[in-house]
Amino acid sequence: MKEFKAESKRLMELMINSIYTNKEIFLREIISNASDAIDKLHYKSLTDKKMNIKKDDFAIVIKADKDARTLTISDNGIGMTKEELETNLGTIAKSGSFDFKEQNKKKENIDIIGQFGVGFYSSFMVSSKVEVISKAFGSEEAYSWSSTGIEGYTIKKADKDKYGTDIILTIKDEEEYNRYLEDYELRSLVKKYSDYITYPIKMEVTDDKKTKLETINSLVPLWKRNKKDISEEEYNTFYSDKFFDYEQPLCHIHTKAEGTFEYNSLIYIPSHASFDYYSKEFEKGLQLYSNGVLIMEKCADLLPDYFSFVKGVVDSPDLSLNISREMLQQNRVLKNIANNIEKHIKNELISMQSDRREDYLKFWEAFGMQIKAGIYNSYGMDKEKLQDLLMFYSSKEDKLVTLKEYFDNNKEEKSIYYACGSSIDQMKSLPQVEALVTKDKDILLCSNYLDEFVFKAMVKYEDRDFKNVCSDNVDLDTEEEKEELKTLNEKSKDLLSLMKDELDVKDVKFTSKLKNHPVCLSSVGEISIEMEKTINAMPTNESINAQKVLEINSHHPIAQKLQDLYKNDKEELKKYSKVLYAQARLIEGLPIDNPTEITNLICDMLVK
Ligand code: ADP
Repeated sequence: MKEFKAESKRLMELMINSIYTNKEIFLREIISNASDAIDKLHYKSLTDKKMNIKKDDFAIVIKADKDARTLTISDNGIGMTKEELETNLGTIAKSGSFDFKEQNKKKENIDIIGQFGVGFYSSFMVSSKVEVISKAFGSEEAYSWSSTGIEGYTIKKADKDKYGTDIILTIKDEEEYNRYLEDYELRSLVKKYSDYITYPIKMEVTDDKKTKLETINSLVPLWKRNKKDISEEEYNTFYSDKFFDYEQPLCHIHTKAEGTFEYNSLIYIPSHASFDYYSKEFEKGLQLYSNGVLIMEKCADLLPDYFSFVKGVVDSPDLSLNISREMLQQNRVLKNIANNIEKHIKNELISMQSDRREDYLKFWEAFGMQIKAGIYNSYGMDKEKLQDLLMFYSSKEDKLVTLKEYFDNNKEEKSIYYACGSSIDQMKSLPQVEALVTKDKDILLCSNYLDEFVFKAMVKYEDRDFKNVCSDNVDLDTEEEKEELKTLNEKSKDLLSLMKDELDVKDVKFTSKLKNHPVCLSSVGEISIEMEKTINAMPTNESINAQKVLEINSHHPIAQKLQDLYKNDKEELKKYSKVLYAQARLIEGLPIDNPTEITNLICDMLVK
């Protein structure tokens, strides 16, 4: 007897002792494996004409024997060699195992079983013994793999005429498991979970003492069926089954296109990012079928990067089976389908945004970054397609709004105002924001590092440009106020230039835009302070500096104090400059280069 690998052992243990109520999903898992195995052989036979296998022969057969308490599921798929039995069933399939570990970390409850693909091992929830007899296509020998539990498994030679696999489950000898030997029960399980399987799933019926096989599933894949005959539940089951997602999707888009390009597609927008979505291993793509035969597991060309989270299947009779990846890229049919799919996704999202805002916010939370990155990475080229999907936090509405909503809510504005910072609260307390909010301005508060880059890439939304309220180009004063400020700044030229010489800034000036705060930091030129932070935080050697302007509130008592110091104590003025600048940097969320010096200066002032 051989031992299971540690991971498999844990999963086995979980399965054997499972109190999971949905134990019935074991049948779905086995049938789905059988269907995959037939898929593989089917595909092989279609690309290799010499094989001479007829599609009509493919089938999955279920037989229950109440006396022996066995349930046998047979397929005439590709089968497994001795080595394959060992690697495939002795260890958890790579895909499944990672999912399992990730899920298990978060939730202790074993209810997670069956909500995603745990596969073959789920049969141990209902069986006291599992035997797999398999003959690989083209091989002379058959082997039997069997196990009664965590102790391990044995593999020995077996007899089997034809290629394919028989899974023989000895159903646990307890009342609650009896149903898995009942004809009626098995049929309803096949209907419930496996109806979309494209190969016939057959069971024996006895008619006039003659036994024959009857096909139970409807055979037509879900995406080829008529929309009106498909229930929401069927759509969702198909989704969780196929894409191993334990949460319901936000929506599905089922399309049938006829005419120049014929295809069926069924695509889903998930409600959350899969565990690997933001990892290097993630591959985008839709499953590609040609007339019901799977030709590619993940066809990347069907999805733009900004919609990479979308899952689904595309089936087109216009695609040839043995088309290579390289050929697919050039393929006109595929390009056309991809364009259509992109439009459908966009339209669906837009209508979700207007009709089901809650769902849209979920979507935005999970995948908003993707949309932003789409605009930024294309240098704004994709902005027309994506801009109306964007959402930002409005200071006035106190919630996320679309740019269109901001636009409509602020009809009289010529610009779209925004501020950048680490959190909504931090931005709300920025001097510049606070000052504008008192003037009843609506400001988009952007806490994501990409936001400002997105605005820069977009340049404009409709006819309005984007204005960072922390850069010095926000101009809201009346002519009179402007004149007054100009005079003050001119009059204080020497004071300001002395301060500037003391600091690493482009300029120091008085401002009338602040309300309570004594100072703020703004920037001039293309690079804002937020961009400086973002770029400098990247793991490259690149480092940039925004051209900073220290602005002093002309209405604050500090303004007068500075004037006095200029007259009476220039050395003290230099110290004040440093402290005020440090204060402005702190408010902006920038580090202070010389914290010891600054704190000592503050202390000196305190003891005076
Ligand atoms: P998964 O289906 O997620 O890969 P499973 O644990 O269900 O994981 O199955 C492990 C592997 O065993 C499959 O990937 C497949 O290679 C193989 N396998 C299972 N059932 C069959 C079958 N009926 N015919 C051929 N191979 C099979």
